[in-house]
Amino acid sequence: MPVLEEPSSDKPGEKQNAKPVPAKKPGDALPLASLREGQERTVVKVGPVEIGGDRFTLIAGPCAVESAEQIQKAARLVKSRGAVMMRGGAFKPRTSPYSFQGLGFPGVDLLVEAGHSYEMPVVTEVLRPEDAGQIAQRADMLQVGARNMQNFALLKELGKLNRPVLLKRGMSATVKELVQAAEYIMAGGNHRVVLCERGIRTFENATRATLDISAVPVLKTLTHLPIIVDPSHAAGVRHLVVPLALAAAAAGADGLIVEVHPRPEEALCDKDQALTSEDLEQLVAMLKPIVTSQGRQL
Ligand code: PEP
Ligand code: MN
Repeated sequence: MPVLEEPSSDKPGEKQNAKPVPAKKPGDALPLASLREGQERTVVKVGPVEIGGDRFTLIAGPCAVESAEQIQKAARLVKSRGAVMMRGGAFKPRTSPYSFQGLGFPGVDLLVEAGHSYEMPVVTEVLRPEDAGQIAQRADMLQVGARNMQNFALLKELGKLNRPVLLKRGMSATVKELVQAAEYIMAGGNHRVVLCERGIRTFENATRATLDISAVPVLKTLTHLPIIVDPSHAAGVRHLVVPLALAAAAAGADGLIVEVHPRPEEALCDKDQALTSEDLEQLVAMLKPIVTSQGRQL
């Protein structure tokens, strides 16, 4: 499996010199992201963590970075339960302008410090193209949120950076459009892209979004890129997160990204879907046999 890691001499926040790659032949619309016959699956390296390899990747953390104390406690909690990477938003794309918008750059720094304290690489969302370079100098992986999957200016900017990208599916985007968005990033020279299914909008309103489990095996036929699942934003409520996570693993996802908070009742963002420490423990225990049956380790 080709393992895509960052050349040690490169500075992550700096732009790469790679030239955009045009389609190789007419009709070859997605030359970089598409899976070709006989092609091996790509493993994306984020620090020491390999996404898409022999290990199933568990990424966990709060929706938002709220304070040094909260994010340190969250880091300790998720590490003790088996997470290998940490999440936490500092730039939050909130539906209401009056909701907590995140701590911005100080929040990124708190997340990075917490990740260092517990030896976990971190992923955080980038909202604006002009912030991408600065966030890339701090965080290990850059997240494109569902609301920005087709923010082409942002995708192009991330394509110039030497940092892996977690690209979430837009809530009204087809799987093909998700792969096309990945191609945008790759065409700029950055090939380290991980896709994420996080639920789409349907007529169903019993859940926050409808987790499109079929997207996992479908994407495996369309692209060589790793695919992880976010059951938290699909569920919207805590008690549905674990069953959706297990279904995602059974469907062949390469990992999960889940929201966990040391005190969910106090969370400033997405409190209803935040897992407790005990929930995460239960999730990991139930994941193990599923992942093992696929010849993978957790
Ligand atoms: C998030 O990960 O906190 C988030 C905002 O997710 P999404 O973009 O999938 O809604
Ligand atoms: Mn959230």
